Amino acid sequence: MTDAPQYGFDTLQIHAGARPDPATGARQTPIYQTTAYVFRDAEHAAALFNLQEVGYIYSRLTNPTIAVLQERMATLEGGVGAVCCSSGHAAQLMALFPLMSPGKNIVASTRLYGGTMTQFSQTITRFGWSAKFVDFDDIEAVKAAIDDDTRAVFGETIANPGGYVTDIPALAKVTEAAGIPLIIDNTSATPYLCRPIELGATLVVHSMTKYLTGNGTVMGGAVVDSGKFDWSASDKFPSLSQPEPAYHGLKFHETFGPLAFTFHGIAIGLRDLGMTLNPQAAHYTLMGIETLSLRMERHCLNAQKAAEWLETNPHVETVTYAGLQSSPYHARAKALFPKGTGGLFTIALKGGYEACVKFVENLDLFSHVANLGDTRSLVIHPASTTHRQLTEEQQIAAGAGPNVVRISIGIEDINDLIGDLDQALAKATA
Ligand SMILES: *Cc1c(COP(=O)(O)O)cnc(C)c1O
Repeated sequence: MTDAPQYGFDTLQIHAGARPDPATGARQTPIYQTTAYVFRDAEHAAALFNLQEVGYIYSRLTNPTIAVLQERMATLEGGVGAVCCSSGHAAQLMALFPLMSPGKNIVASTRLYGGTMTQFSQTITRFGWSAKFVDFDDIEAVKAAIDDDTRAVFGETIANPGGYVTDIPALAKVTEAAGIPLIIDNTSATPYLCRPIELGATLVVHSMTKYLTGNGTVMGGAVVDSGKFDWSASDKFPSLSQPEPAYHGLKFHETFGPLAFTFHGIAIGLRDLGMTLNPQAAHYTLMGIETLSLRMERHCLNAQKAAEWLETNPHVETVTYAGLQSSPYHARAKALFPKGTGGLFTIALKGGYEACVKFVENLDLFSHVANLGDTRSLVIHPASTTHRQLTEEQQIAAGAGPNVVRISIGIEDINDLIGDLDQALAKATA
C-alpha cells in the first residue's frame, strides 16, 4: 500500500505496512520465525553491515513481521518511523538511550505509571542519568526545571492511574524553546483517541501490551519518531549528530535525515541493548491493532457509563475520569481527544484502604490483575501493588493514594459490569 496517509484510521489499522506476502501470496502477515537471512553474496552482506543498503541481517535488529508492525505504528501515530521492542519499559529506555549520557537528566511528570516512576527515580541513575519530577500543570515549573543538562521532557497523554490529562501543546512550546525533545507515553489513549505528534510531541512511546494488543496476551513496546526534530541544531545530541565509531564514522542525522532516530534505534539500540520484540508477539499485536478503533469506542462508552454510575454511588468519594463534567481535566480532554477519554480511571472509596481491599476481592467479573487495556474488565489497588515501591507522598502525587482503586473498563455488557460493581461495593462497605 503506497500513499497510505490518504486512508482513514479504520483502514490504516488493518492495512498500513502490510501487503500480501511476495513469496506465497499469503494475505495475513506471516510470522517470519527466523533468526537469520541468507545474503545474496559477500558484497550484499557488506552493504547491509555498513548500513548502505536496508535489508535483513539478524532478527535482533530486523524481522519482516516486526517491520510490518513498525510501519503500522508509525503510520497510525503520524510519525516517520518506529522501533518496536520487547515491552513498554524497554521502549522508554530505547527512547532515552540516543539522547542521554552520564550526567544528563530528563524532566518528568509527577503523574506517571508506577513502574515508570521506579524506572526513572531508581534504575536510570545506574547509567548516570537522572529525572526531575515536576507537576506538569505548572508550566513555569517545567520551564524552571529544564537546565543545560536536560535532554528531554517526558509525560503521559492520560496519566495512569490519576485521570490526569497532559497539556501536550503547552509542553511542546516549552520544549521547542528549550531545543529538546518532548516524549509522550500514549499507551492509555492510543493513536485512535490522541495523536501526540500532531499536538507537538517529538517522540511517542507505547506499551503495546495494553490496548494495542488488547487481549492481554503478549508484551511489547514501540518508539515512534515524528521526524521533525533537528538533532544537529545544537551539540546536545552527539549520538545522532556526531560520527559513530561503530559504523566507520557515519553521522546518523546527516545520513538518514528525518529517519535518524529510527535507524539509530535499530542499528545501535536493538543491536547493543537487545530489547528485541519476537515475531510471534508482533503477530498478536498486529491482530489486536486491526480492531483498535472498535474496541476503543466501546471502552470509552462503557467507561463513561460506569464512571457516571459510580459518581452517584454513596460509597464512592471521587471518580477521576476525564470524561466526567466534574473532572478538572474535562475541557482539556474534550479539546485534545474529542473521540473519548479511554477506559481507565480511578475511584476513591470512603472506607479507605480496608474497603478497597474488600471491594477488589468481592468483584466477580472484574479480575484483580496488574494489567490494563484488556477486552475484559480489570481492577487493581495501586497502593498495595503497582505503586507500593513509592512513598505515600509519591503515591498521592501519582493519584494512587491508599483509598484509591484503579479500574480498566473492558468491552463487556455495561449492565453486567455495573451490576458487579454494585454488589462488590455493597460487600466492601457492609
Ligand atoms: C504498562 C505501561 C507501561 C509499561 O509497559 P510494559 O509493556 O508493561 O513494560 C508504561 N507506561 C504505561 C502508561 C503503561 O500503562
